[in-house]
Amino acid sequence: MTESLVPRQPQSFALWREAQDMRIRTPLGGIYYLLAWLLTWGFSNDPQALLVPGLLGIAVFALLLALRLLHRLPEEQTPTALKRWLNHHWLLILSTALAWGLAHALAQMHVLFSSSTIIATLSTIAFSTALVFTFSMRKKRATLALMLLYLPGLLSLATDWQMKHAIVITLGFYLSYLLLALNRSHREYHNTLKLELQLLDQQERLDQLSRTDSLTQLGNRYQFNSLFPVMVANAQRQSQPLSLVLLDIDFFKRINDEYGHACGDVCLSAFAERMRHNFRRGGDALLRLGGEEFGILMPNTPLEKARQLAELFRQDLEREGFNLQETVLPLTASLGVGCYDMQRDDNAEAFFKRVDDALYQAKSNGRNRLALA
Ligand code: GH3
Ligand code: MG
Ligand code: MG
Repeated sequence: MTESLVPRQPQSFALWREAQDMRIRTPLGGIYYLLAWLLTWGFSNDPQALLVPGLLGIAVFALLLALRLLHRLPEEQTPTALKRWLNHHWLLILSTALAWGLAHALAQMHVLFSSSTIIATLSTIAFSTALVFTFSMRKKRATLALMLLYLPGLLSLATDWQMKHAIVITLGFYLSYLLLALNRSHREYHNTLKLELQLLDQQERLDQLSRTDSLTQLGNRYQFNSLFPVMVANAQRQSQPLSLVLLDIDFFKRINDEYGHACGDVCLSAFAERMRHNFRRGGDALLRLGGEEFGILMPNTPLEKARQLAELFRQDLEREGFNLQETVLPLTASLGVGCYDMQRDDNAEAFFKRVDDALYQAKSNGRNRLALA
């Protein structure tokens, strides 16, 4: 399955799954109804005398088969569209079941079908068995289809109780088995559905985990690598400004050396928290690119706006430092800020390099400053 198309919300997922299953399972049954009718008619006592019901049956089952095959899933698979599609498709299933139920009853009642009644009865048993396993997604609808398929033949047999009571009783017992099997098959279908959803959920959580830096809970380098080219491509396509801020904490090695690595870690988390506090706009992506280097991707943000926000952050950091064990730890950062420029940047890497060079410039110009790319 193409994972991006799979809905994650349980109810939408159930609908989506049911529609896919229905679509895959439906063509085979349609073909066999037509075939079974051809056999029932062809091996009857006098197919020519039965020309009208014979041809009528072929027309009905061929039409139902064609409708099943032509009934394609909607292009836009919204829950409403899928629900409508499923309702229509169930109507086709129910119509086919009723058509076969009536065909079976006719074969039971009409004297000229006496040589092929057994074909119709065996087909009914085969179809109803297939139905309870194939279409067990909806219990009520499948039960109705089973009744439409099974009861007309059974009732017509029952009218000749004297001669046919043994087969009526046997078919009655078999019907009880079918109902139990449908019940179980329905339960199993929904249990599998639940498992599938859990799996998708876990997959999503693992994916999220693999993209998150565990110390700061910001996106990690892997997340940046997958996000950055997509954002650049979007900016290019929509001609929207995309800004990138790169931050590197100044002399961070000293913090580690003076206060210990654990304290360094606390600083990194606090730094990330401050980033979250300062860059709060929904579209911004905050990332830890490695060590004490961070990045912010700002879609729909021109250079000047990005510069203002980044400069505010730098000033806040310079003024406040970090409160650590009741002492204030002075901490500053150097920043490179740039905006994607189609004329200048051949690709995403070129854009990144330009901003990274600006950061390097800020470092070599004395740190605790911002340089524009
Ligand atoms: P500059 O101003 O040139 O950036 O100096 P700097 O000391 O910040 O840069 P340098 O690249 O020399 O050192 C980075 C330090 O960041 C070294 C490394 O121990 C520390 N560091 C990287 N990752 C972590 C981490 O996850 N936790 C801690 N505590 N320290 C880290
Ligand atoms: Mg540094
Ligand atoms: Mg560094």
